[in-house]
Amino acid sequence: MSNKKILVLPGDGIGNEVMAEVLKIIDWLSKTRSMSFEISERLVGGTAYDKEGDSISDETMQEALDADAVLFGAVGGPQWDNVEREKRPEAALLRLRKELDLFANLRPAVVFDALAEASPLKLNLVKGLDILILRELTSGVYFGQPRGVSKINDDEEKAIDTQSYTTSEITRITRVAFDLAKLRDNKVTSVEKSNVMETGMFWKNTVSNIHQKEFQDVELFHMLADNCAMQLVRNPKQFDVILTDNLFGDLLSDIAAMLTGSLGMLPSASLGPIAENGSRAAMYEPVHGSAPDIAGQGKANPLAMIMSFAMMLKYSFNMQEDSVLVENAVQAVLSKGLRTADISDGADKIVSTQDMGKAVIEELNNLSGS
Ligand code: NAD
Repeated sequence: MSNKKILVLPGDGIGNEVMAEVLKIIDWLSKTRSMSFEISERLVGGTAYDKEGDSISDETMQEALDADAVLFGAVGGPQWDNVEREKRPEAALLRLRKELDLFANLRPAVVFDALAEASPLKLNLVKGLDILILRELTSGVYFGQPRGVSKINDDEEKAIDTQSYTTSEITRITRVAFDLAKLRDNKVTSVEKSNVMETGMFWKNTVSNIHQKEFQDVELFHMLADNCAMQLVRNPKQFDVILTDNLFGDLLSDIAAMLTGSLGMLPSASLGPIAENGSRAAMYEPVHGSAPDIAGQGKANPLAMIMSFAMMLKYSFNMQEDSVLVENAVQAVLSKGLRTADISDGADKIVSTQDMGKAVIEELNNLSGS
C-alpha cells in the first residue's frame, strides 16, 4: 500500500469539469487496486484570484512544493483579461513551472486507431502514430537576457530577445530524452538550427557528448528545426522522441498536436530535477485551456485530463501497469464509438463530459475484471 500525495488544481472553466472525471478514476483506483492517494484540492487561476486575491496563493504554492505530483486542469477566461499581469490566471502556471523548476515538458502525440480519421493528415501517415516531443521549458529565448526594447534615435527603436543555453541546461534535458527513449523505441532526434545559430551548434555538440559518454545504447539523430517541421507532416512515424529547445519545442509540439486531430485528446507532463532523496517535482495537465466557449455545458472532452493522470501514474509513481490500464480503458471507449462533440465526425453518438468519464470507469471495470 503506497500513499501518494497529489495536489489537485482544477482551475477555471472546463478545468473543473474534466478534473471531476479524473477524481472519479483516482477513487476507482484507490478502491480496486492496492494503492492509496492523499488528495488535496486548491484554487488556482481566475477562481483563486476572485476568492484569494491572487492566481496562486503562497499556501497553494507550498503545497505544490510538498506534493509528490500536481494535477492541473486549466486556467483563464475573458472575465480576467484586465487583471494586472502578475495576478492574471496564467501567472499561476508560470509560477508553478518556475518554482518547481519544471524544465522538461513531455508532450506525447498519439493517434488512437478509432480517431485516425480525425487527423488532417492521410490515414496511412498517422495510423499507429506514437511520438513524444520533449521540450526544454525553463531557459532559451523566452528567458535569456538581455531582452527588451530600446531607443536608437528619434525614429528608430530596437527589440532584443536572447537565445541562451548553458551546458548543464542542455545536459539535464538530454538525459531525460535518452532515459525516456529507453522506455520506448530507443531513438532520439535532437532538433536545433546548428547551421545558423551558435546555440544550435552548442546544443548539437552537447547532446552528442552526453550520447557518447552515457547513452551509446540509444540511437541518436540530429535534425534542423525547419526540416523537422516538414518531416512531422511528411512522415511523422519516423520519430520516437524529439528533443528540442524551448522555442522550437513550442512550435513543433503544436504541429505534432494537430496530427492527432483534437486538443481534447492531448495530455502533457512537466518534470523537474531529481532531488537527493530520489523524488522529482512534476506537474500533469491537458494541453488545452479553460475553453470558456463551452464551459459549464458538459461538452468538454475529459480524455486529455484523464491521460495526463495516466502519465502521472507512469512518470511520477512508476505504476506502469495502472497507467496502461487507464490508457486501454480510453482506447476501448473510443473503439466503441463514444465521442464528445470535439472528436465526433457527426456520425457517432455524442456524449457529455460526465458520460465519457463514466464510460472510462466502466471499461476499467471490464478490463480489470472487477
Ligand atoms: P482553449 O484550449 O481553451 O480552447 C480552444 C478551442 O478548443 C475552443 O473552441 C474549445 O472549446 C476547444 N476545446 C479545448 N479543450 C477542449 C476539450 N477538452 N473538449 C472539447 N473542446 C475543447 O484555448 P483558448 O480558447 O485559446 O483559450 C481559452 C482560455 O484558456 C484563455 O484564457 C487562455 O489564456 C487559457 N489557456 C490556458 C491554458 C492552460 O491553462 N494551460 C492553455 C491554453 C489556454
